[in-house]
Amino acid sequence: MATELLFRDDAYLKTATARVVAVRVVEHGVAEPGAGYVELDRTIYYPLGGGQPGDTGFLMRKNGERIAIVDTRKGEAHDTVRHVLAAGAALPQPGESIALELDWPRRYALMRLHTALHVMSCVVIAPVTGGNIAADKARLDFDIDMTLLDSARIEHGTNELVARGVDTETVWITDAELDAQPELVKTMSVQPPRGAGRIRLLRIPGIDLQPCGGTHVKNIAEIGGIRVTRIRNEGRRNKRVEITLVN
Ligand SMILES: [Zn+2]
Repeated sequence: MATELLFRDDAYLKTATARVVAVRVVEHGVAEPGAGYVELDRTIYYPLGGGQPGDTGFLMRKNGERIAIVDTRKGEAHDTVRHVLAAGAALPQPGESIALELDWPRRYALMRLHTALHVMSCVVIAPVTGGNIAADKARLDFDIDMTLLDSARIEHGTNELVARGVDTETVWITDAELDAQPELVKTMSVQPPRGAGRIRLLRIPGIDLQPCGGTHVKNIAEIGGIRVTRIRNEGRRNKRVEITLVN
């Protein structure tokens, strides 16, 4: 059964209630052996994907017991989500009603850095060949000559765009509409998912438009500002620019 992905329409949900659909103990695979995972009918937890890590937090049972969620991953079926438990954690029961609580400070930092990468990708004009986001730093890899990457210029250009303070927008388009506009697909390492019939885009009006399934801030002013911490040659087509938030 597909999980209703509440974060897609509202990335600011910090709590929600849901029903436990399935509980499994993992023998091998995404979590350490002996750990379990929980599938819910709906979730505010973003599963690892597109360079953004899976959410963490707690499930609260009616009896007050708190069960830590240490990671979130996509399940095998389309739009299913596995909430990964620590090894040896208590397991909720299928059918049980449960309250969800996100580690919000971590998720909000991920949202700010993720959105900052969208803005930075419009300052460095080159194909993006990779990327990753953590709670304290994020990076993009570009297929570009190292001599064209200047940390002060990237920092200044990105912060100047952030200061415009425009609202971000989520737009859905069909596969056919995207095929008619191939220039939208800027990322070379991650192609937008096809076959579901429609694709989710992030639009930052006047700045960026590209396929993305991640979570973003409502207004780019929430990024505050970024600092370029490192520029490094990671390969012929991977010139890596790493950033952090100013505060
Ligand atoms: Zn995004």
